[in-house]
Amino acid sequence: MRVVRKQTEDGLFPVTGEGRAVSLFRLMLSFMAVVMLAFVLVEGWRIWRDYRQVFANAENAVSNLARATAQHAEDAIRQVDAITAALAERLEGDGFDHVDRPRLHALLKQQAQIMPQLHGLFVYGPDGGWIVTDKDDVPAGANNADRDYFIYHRTHPDRQVRIGSVVRSRSTGDLIIPISRRLDNADGGFAGVLLGTIKVDWFVGYYGDFKIDERGALVLAKRDGTILVRRPFVEQVIGRSLAASDIFREYLPHASEGVAEAVAVVDGTPRLYGFRSLSSYPLVVEAGLSRESIIAPWRHDMLKSLAVLVLLLVGVAGFGWIVLRQLRERIAIERALHQAHQTLKALALTDSLTGLGNRRRLDAVLEPEIRRARRQGYALALVMLDLDCFKAYNDRYGHPAGDQCLRRFGELLRQALKRPGDLAVRYGGEEFTLLLPDTDAAGASQIVQEILQLLRRQAIEHGGSPFGHVTASAGIAVGAPTLATVTPENLMAAADAALYQAKRQGRDRYCLAASVEQHPAH
Ligand code: GH3
Ligand code: MG
Ligand code: MG
Repeated sequence: MRVVRKQTEDGLFPVTGEGRAVSLFRLMLSFMAVVMLAFVLVEGWRIWRDYRQVFANAENAVSNLARATAQHAEDAIRQVDAITAALAERLEGDGFDHVDRPRLHALLKQQAQIMPQLHGLFVYGPDGGWIVTDKDDVPAGANNADRDYFIYHRTHPDRQVRIGSVVRSRSTGDLIIPISRRLDNADGGFAGVLLGTIKVDWFVGYYGDFKIDERGALVLAKRDGTILVRRPFVEQVIGRSLAASDIFREYLPHASEGVAEAVAVVDGTPRLYGFRSLSSYPLVVEAGLSRESIIAPWRHDMLKSLAVLVLLLVGVAGFGWIVLRQLRERIAIERALHQAHQTLKALALTDSLTGLGNRRRLDAVLEPEIRRARRQGYALALVMLDLDCFKAYNDRYGHPAGDQCLRRFGELLRQALKRPGDLAVRYGGEEFTLLLPDTDAAGASQIVQEILQLLRRQAIEHGGSPFGHVTASAGIAVGAPTLATVTPENLMAAADAALYQAKRQGRDRYCLAASVEQHPAH
């Protein structure tokens, strides 16, 4: 970059596009990175939002399901509760000694027929014997004194309706939920049990109507965790306890309803559950959708979006790759051009015979050097050197030998100048120029003396010269720091005049120009 800028300052060469191409390359690279990152961020955010949305919808669905199933169970049980309450009232009022069995049987049968959930209505005596039922046939010698609910009511005086665990009916063989209450004598003693039973099948049929996925679950359980009904229906699961499940252990003690993610204790499936305690009975319903069924549509969508995203990214990357490759090629070409420029420039400023700078080189730096000397307040010396009687040398030894001599002199100048800022150029023919920054008349004289001495010592044979060997003459002009009027032209003219003077005085010597100002440019 620095080199490119310097070239333009010289005004010698046109601007190259390399710098622009490199920054375009970087711009393109960052643009692509930003575009690709934006795609990824937007898509990632959308996928995450959809994920949240899917779960929010599922939460609504399971809590609605739980509400519907809870309401259903509550209604079914309340009807049985109400009819057993009415029957108990009547039986206790009439007294057990005068029970009209045929009439009661007809009544029970009629009630059972109008309630679809009802499996049966039963009245048991204090010893567990069947007094009357809605069924036409009573199994001979049937006795229910061993049933859980019977034992409970015999030993507990409370008059509340009681919901028992699922049992298999002795009259029909169906799975049933017993809903029972105690019958009292007028004196408060145990008179027997009144039982209404609900078919588990009735719930199973109702739960089967809901459109939930195969791995979804609906559960009706007692508050202690005992399962009464479950979809999917597996007989072995009935009666198992959910007491150890997260919902019964952690959630239900604090809330009568809610939504929770849990792994089912029954089948190990991770589900989102809506749960709800019934308001009137110690029962709980759970409605669960499997995590898999909730996520599957979202995952399908996400995979499609990801595929599109990948295609887009590949497209952008491919497009970018093509553009970047072209840019890179352009940069390589421009670099080569730039190098060619540099070489050309060096060639244009170099003297091919001696390898020193040429006149163009001097022209290019003289003015800036004068300005710099003025700015920094130091003296600037310009020396013109000319080989003596060189025409004669050529004539005597031939032009190639003359060239060789010029080369040797060039080498000598190179060795004589030690400071990096010093410049030696072949001005033309057998004339050379030295530009010595920060050098006063004394310093310049010393250097020139050394050069002339070195040349003498080389003792290059020159039969055509009065000295017998090759010599040179020099003119020195020094631009003093305080003089604002020093120009390239008058500096050159002063040095030239001093050189002429040295020639006139006999050659193989140098002269110092008296004053640069006396030499206006011609
Ligand atoms: P003076 O002492 O007055 O300088 O005498 P001179 O012969 O050197 O002066 P003049 O300027 O008349 O001659 C310069 C000669 O230098 C002319 C030419 O033969 C020779 N010359 C100039 N350029 C070259 C070059 O590139 N190669 C060779 N071999 N000779 C050159
Ligand atoms: Mg000459
Ligand atoms: Mg000469």
